[in-house]
Amino acid sequence: MPINIKSFIFNPFQENTYIIYDETKECVIVDAGCQTPDEQNILSEFIESADLKPVKLLNTHCHIDHIMGNGFIYKEFGLKTQAHKDERQNLENAPEHAELFDIKFSVAPSISIKLNEGDKVKFGNSVLHILHLPGHSAGSLAFYNKERKFVFVGDVLFKDSIGRTDLPGGDYETLIISIKEKLFSLGEEFVVYPGHGPESTIGEEKKSNPFLV
Ligand SMILES: [Zn+2]
Ligand SMILES: [Zn+2]
Repeated sequence: MPINIKSFIFNPFQENTYIIYDETKECVIVDAGCQTPDEQNILSEFIESADLKPVKLLNTHCHIDHIMGNGFIYKEFGLKTQAHKDERQNLENAPEHAELFDIKFSVAPSISIKLNEGDKVKFGNSVLHILHLPGHSAGSLAFYNKERKFVFVGDVLFKDSIGRTDLPGGDYETLIISIKEKLFSLGEEFVVYPGHGPESTIGEEKKSNPFLV
């Protein structure tokens, strides 16, 4: 069964927002970072032109760059935030962080559906599975599909880099364990879609990521 992945780069943090959909046209949105009206239009117009029906809004974690569009998605499609419970603090602190960065954004609805490792996220004929990968933030999640072998990792792992661990809830040792013992166990052929920058594969990162070799 085909699953399509569309990516966008949004907001001053150059965050990757993803839309995942299958042949039923149901889609999930991962990390809605659309901040400006222009960015919001780009997202809406894609959804409209592809005739998609958004059914879930998932967050790998709730740092401000990954939730700037959540208020818009709620208003436009009625979808509430789905994330790990340990991301509540990040979500609540977001308006304060926005002020620090002098960024405007509409406040995201609180986490209404709490996700955790082992949960299944269903849309259309497809299923995403969940790993809990703390270290960049306490409640970082990865969403993966077994058949198509792809994984959305948020800011846990990037091409040739890893997530920062100096923010509240971050811890370097924990992050390395999350990546090496949990994420890498998915298998080398898995395509990695990070929260910033280009995609990679688990095999490539195992071989050449300077933080992990
Ligand atoms: Zn982050
Ligand atoms: Zn980020």
